[in-house]
Amino acid sequence: MVATGNALEILRAPSLAALPWLVHGFSTRRGGVSTCYGGRSLNLGLTPADSKENVARNRALFLEALGAASQNSGGVWPLVQMKQMHSAVVHRVSEPPRVPLAGDGIITNTPGLLLAIKTADCVPVLVADVKRRVIGAFHAGWRGTAARIVEKGVGEMRRQFGSVPRDLRAAIGPSIRRCCYQVGPEVRAEFDSQFPYSADLFEEVFDANAIHVRYPMLFLTARAPGHSELGPELHLDLVEANRRQLEDTGLGAEHISIVDGCTACDTARFFSHRAAFGKAGRMMAAIGIRPE
Ligand SMILES: [Zn+2]
Repeated sequence: MVATGNALEILRAPSLAALPWLVHGFSTRRGGVSTCYGGRSLNLGLTPADSKENVARNRALFLEALGAASQNSGGVWPLVQMKQMHSAVVHRVSEPPRVPLAGDGIITNTPGLLLAIKTADCVPVLVADVKRRVIGAFHAGWRGTAARIVEKGVGEMRRQFGSVPRDLRAAIGPSIRRCCYQVGPEVRAEFDSQFPYSADLFEEVFDANAIHVRYPMLFLTARAPGHSELGPELHLDLVEANRRQLEDTGLGAEHISIVDGCTACDTARFFSHRAAFGKAGRMMAAIGIRPE
């Protein structure tokens, strides 16, 4: 599942790695030429801290390592990305877009394009139709998950290309996991209003090491703004939420791969927006169809 090239580490999902006509992978921070996030790293997003030149070089390294390069010309495939906005907007593409796309899902049946989602905690989901050779890439943070980006994205694959559930394979990439993803009551309320299985997605975590548990007297008069009570932390399992959405579209559980890795736990390997207090690089989840 782990492949390295040019010192890059790219994670692959068994459900998709078995398809010879497909290129896919989840980047990690390892490898690359960026130096602004500690050590050398593979930052694939245009961020305030990094230079355009570094990001362009990192992207070229990533595409080469993925194998998303033309046999004849030696050039890499066009990268199709979006201005991600935590929505349920899905775009169908058949060529590199002339104007930047705003949305959180891209689908295509055109070979030689690399669809890419950028993340630094959010959940990247890749889907492939093995019969019709259609692919999709989706970005699911909590807002996009609540808006059903993955259900909607697979629905668009069915509607626009005639994909049927038994032909679909999916992969959920590294992201912030339940262990680290503390959320507020407004997130719980939103999920409760959207999903009958909402209760399965949340866990109340009583942290025996939390300072307010050990020293409650310290907090009686000095509570953080917005924290009216010192109850358990609420943790959300976004992987399970998106796995359920895939199942609800008809995908068999055996056709969904979950690639291990909590971005916030393993900051040596991944970028994490939360763990880095907002100053993180970006990873990419990418998928493309090889030209014949
Ligand atoms: Zn974690």
